[in-house]
Amino acid sequence: MKNKTRILIDPGHPAKDNPGAIHAGVHEADINLQVAIRLGDLLNAAGFAVRYTRQGSKMVELEDRVQIEHLSEPDLFFSLHCNSFSSPGVQGLEVFTSIGDTLADPAASCVIDALQICFPESNFRSDLSDGDADKEAEFYVLNNTRCPAILVEMGFLSNA
Ligand SMILES: [Zn+2]
Repeated sequence: MKNKTRILIDPGHPAKDNPGAIHAGVHEADINLQVAIRLGDLLNAAGFAVRYTRQGSKMVELEDRVQIEHLSEPDLFFSLHCNSFSSPGVQGLEVFTSIGDTLADPAASCVIDALQICFPESNFRSDLSDGDADKEAEFYVLNNTRCPAILVEMGFLSNA
């Protein structure tokens, strides 16, 4: 029997005392979790083995998320976040990988293609300077996980 591809979904932010971006009473940590559960259901139904770094509002720090990744040895680490900005007109989606050419790049390109098909009206905030559409950043979970890791900023809570 073929082993299932394992995806570790990471709903951003520890939740309780650090909810991430907040706008109009909406907490980023809550949206990240709700999308994570729906994404996990879809991936499960499509035959992937899914785990989460958190499934409730219990605090989970960045170091613990990386530790879960080390212990569960997934094939892909998939972090979900929402943005916020002082100017409400700023909007759009972003997909991040760590810096340089990594195994996360093809995964990010795949997710970007899917997002552009599913949300054609969305502003896609890409960085094409290095030959692909993902952005690169030194986010803790991207830098310290061992498997290919991507982080999706699903949109700006500050944009209506
Ligand atoms: Zn965030």
